[in-house]
Amino acid sequence: MPTRSRSPLTALARAGRPLSGWANPPIIKGSTYLFDTVESWRATGQRRQTERVLSYGARGNETVFALEDAITELEAGYRTKLFPTGLAAIAMMLLAYLRSGDHLLVCDGIYGPVSRLCRTQLAGYGIDTTFFDPTDQDWSRYLRPETRMVYVESPGSLIYDMLDLPAMSKVCHERGILLAADNTWGASLNYSPLALGCDLSVVAATKYLGGHSDVVLGSVTASEACFNRLEAISVNLGQTVAAEDAYLVLRGMRTLALRLQRHAESALYMADWLSRQPAIRTVYHPALASDPNHALWLRDARGSNGLLTVEFAPSIPASAIERGIDALKMYGIGASWGGYESLVLPVDINRTRFATHGEKPGYLLRIHIGLEDRKELKSDFENLLRGLD
Ligand SMILES: *Cc1c(COP(=O)(O)O)cnc(C)c1O
Repeated sequence: MPTRSRSPLTALARAGRPLSGWANPPIIKGSTYLFDTVESWRATGQRRQTERVLSYGARGNETVFALEDAITELEAGYRTKLFPTGLAAIAMMLLAYLRSGDHLLVCDGIYGPVSRLCRTQLAGYGIDTTFFDPTDQDWSRYLRPETRMVYVESPGSLIYDMLDLPAMSKVCHERGILLAADNTWGASLNYSPLALGCDLSVVAATKYLGGHSDVVLGSVTASEACFNRLEAISVNLGQTVAAEDAYLVLRGMRTLALRLQRHAESALYMADWLSRQPAIRTVYHPALASDPNHALWLRDARGSNGLLTVEFAPSIPASAIERGIDALKMYGIGASWGGYESLVLPVDINRTRFATHGEKPGYLLRIHIGLEDRKELKSDFENLLRGLD
């Protein structure tokens, strides 16, 4: 099992930095990389089969490698490949390991567009997907002889269901099945899928790693045993990222721990307050003691973040809630999360649930608590609740 050699706080400050000269890796722009001799050009062509070397712009450069190294260290993996978006990272990972005739088992609560990818693109390639309920203790009954991968998101999108990854990885590895996790919630810092037994960890760096709502990028970190296929698909399908984007993500990561700490403190403050409001039936936030995932969160995570989702009392009409949302001053209405700023977005649980058929919940609003003053965030939301009386 990979272990971290130095504190993640030190890694965030130091990883990927040049040994001397500039404090930060400069932004390198280049396609052609020149060699002194035919022999060294040929030798590099050989070496790049197994090693990460500078050879051509699309294969990466010093800026891109610096970000790969930083994420690899935080995720305690063997190596990392970067992709243009989080979704691209997930798609490439699935395509890297799955072949026609393979079966993929996926947990409900994954990032919505991935389910569409499975049901359309992968189905078209003859790869069959089954979804299971994250609260189903008997999930392994869905495994088949041709199951090649189990793909999960823990905590999951929208209501943050957590999975017992160490227990799942035991079952998977006994049968030679890969276990892959989306670690966007954990932001490579607060949760460690590889240390918990996964083979692959994907992160939408667009969210907390970038942290400033100004860049989209994704990463996949692999264990040594399965890295080769990830590298191969990246090369075969010409996947590459811009140095500016890698630079922005690495710059964001320098303050990741501090930002997450503030996001988490303020979100817990809001979650605690919201859970005592009559207009709110449920607050989903694993750091909240009343959350059904709290025990697993305490056991497996090292911290939380700014995300919470509230379910309004079902008696409240959606139109009244949406008038209140439109009148919010401190919260933007928009996709994504993980930036410095507060956001709200109405969410449809049925977009991420395929195996779960519970009671239809009331109006769900995902809230991302940003770095603003938490008392001001609370009083703005108080206006929304007051309008519902
Ligand atoms: C946003 C998100 C993604 C996709 O990232 P993009 O960079 O927007 O493509 C994947 N997984 C999770 C959990 C996300 O929240």
